[in-house]
Amino acid sequence: MVRTLVVEVKDLVKNFGPIKAVNGASFNVSEGEIFGLIGPNAAGKTTILRIISTLLRITSGSVNVFGYDVAEEADRVRRLISYLPEDAGAYKNLTGRAYLNFIARFFGSGSETKKIVERGLEIADLGERIDDKVDTYSKGMIRRLLVGRALMIEPKLAILDEPTSGLDVTNAREIREIIKKFAKRGTTVLLSSHNMLEVEFLCERIALINEGKIVEEGNAPGLKKKYRAENLEEVFTKVVS
Ligand code: ATP
Repeated sequence: MVRTLVVEVKDLVKNFGPIKAVNGASFNVSEGEIFGLIGPNAAGKTTILRIISTLLRITSGSVNVFGYDVAEEADRVRRLISYLPEDAGAYKNLTGRAYLNFIARFFGSGSETKKIVERGLEIADLGERIDDKVDTYSKGMIRRLLVGRALMIEPKLAILDEPTSGLDVTNAREIREIIKKFAKRGTTVLLSSHNMLEVEFLCERIALINEGKIVEEGNAPGLKKKYRAENLEEVFTKVVS
């Protein structure tokens, strides 16, 4: 079966002045996949995710989402995606519930908004604290709220930059299960992570990026076999060093 290409990144270059943040990266993500970008600090992961999310202009190369060029057809791309930044915050003066309501109104009206918010509340799962102001939340609580915000609209493509950063083991596991559930329901997921266990658990395919280039790509079992490694952390270390 031929799967639809959701993300096509070709020869992508992004310079910030003299800094080559992305240096000729190419990879594809197919519909229904959970695709993981891994790499050391400053490898270019966030820059790539921000470009795919239409937030940064490219220097050269091309990036398409569902066939739409992210530079030329940014509006169309934005209707299909949801982006969870690595360092995102929520409006601190709103309660968690009011924040989800506020966001949901951009994506539906009437009963549709209600359904979106219900999904967000379920994902965030903050109990009574959902009615407290966001500025009283812990880092992990804010992350859960933001994952709820990103997934509640059931985007065609969810772009998640380190989705479980700041979460404890239990919360991180729950969020991973939620990501899997959404992928099964038709959301394609592109995520970055420093947690190799997470990547191995979640991702069907993985691209390893180093100094702005994709240096390895495949599924976890294939990569482990190729590098005679017991786990993905070992693969990572062997490839990067
Ligand atoms: P980390 O794992 O540490 O989050 P990353 O792989 O996400 O890193 P990026 O944030 O994409 O890496 O950064 C790649 C390179 O681009 C780094 O050298 C970074 O300093 C640089 N960079 C990113 N954004 C900017 C910017 N706005 N201005 C200048 N340089 C930038």
